[in-house]
Amino acid sequence: MSRTPLIAGNWKMNGGPDALCWGEKLGEAVPDTPRCEVLLCPPATLIHPVSTRLPGWVSLGGQDCSAYEPGAHTGDIAASMLKALGCTHVILGHSERRSGHQENNETVKAKAEAAIAAGLAPIICVGETLAERETGQAEQVVMGQLAASLPEGADAEHLVIAYEPVWAIGTGKTATPDDAQAMHAQIRKAWPGEDGGGLRILYGGSVKPDTAAELLAQSDIDGALVGGASLDADDFAAIIGAAR
Ligand code: PEP
Repeated sequence: MSRTPLIAGNWKMNGGPDALCWGEKLGEAVPDTPRCEVLLCPPATLIHPVSTRLPGWVSLGGQDCSAYEPGAHTGDIAASMLKALGCTHVILGHSERRSGHQENNETVKAKAEAAIAAGLAPIICVGETLAERETGQAEQVVMGQLAASLPEGADAEHLVIAYEPVWAIGTGKTATPDDAQAMHAQIRKAWPGEDGGGLRILYGGSVKPDTAAELLAQSDIDGALVGGASLDADDFAAIIGAAR
């Protein structure tokens, strides 16, 4: 089954006033509509200002959302608020939230259900630590996270999985294309529905212009979740260009 690749940028907690011209730079670096879908997930404070200067083919996403409806939850952002800002997606269960904010699979699942109810497609992140990989537990850990983080009745059309080995995030180390492909194939096999052929599974972990093409050429890698390299419009453009 053919799946349109998705290249998603995660700015994390980065971006000041100079970030506003990123969209124009990206438009200059990618003059024609790309052959993949492109998503940008800036910090929540920048979603609106950045959106006014993006090429029309870039969609917007949040980096997290609350599991709750709008109300008394200081500091949180409801999925419906992201939707109202024009977002189509939200990243959930990123390893930086799992480790830095003690988010577990149950939290991720509740947030994913809230996102879907608000009309957003969750990008659910899973991935093993270096110790888990080195002790041969990578597949078991990832399959466990997947099974426990998926929302009830998940359907492949309205959800994206990102396989992000923790040891590869922000470290400059990347899984080999073969190792990444093997995990992606396992994730697709473990998908609980009949529609796994349509599920998009992104790879994330130090994807750079020089590593993107080989990763994206793997049959079960349907795009990339890009952190550091998405801050530079030219680097992000090169990764978009590598998606076929
Ligand atoms: C990420 O933030 O999801 C990520 C993969 O970061 P980086 O590309 O910097 O490793």
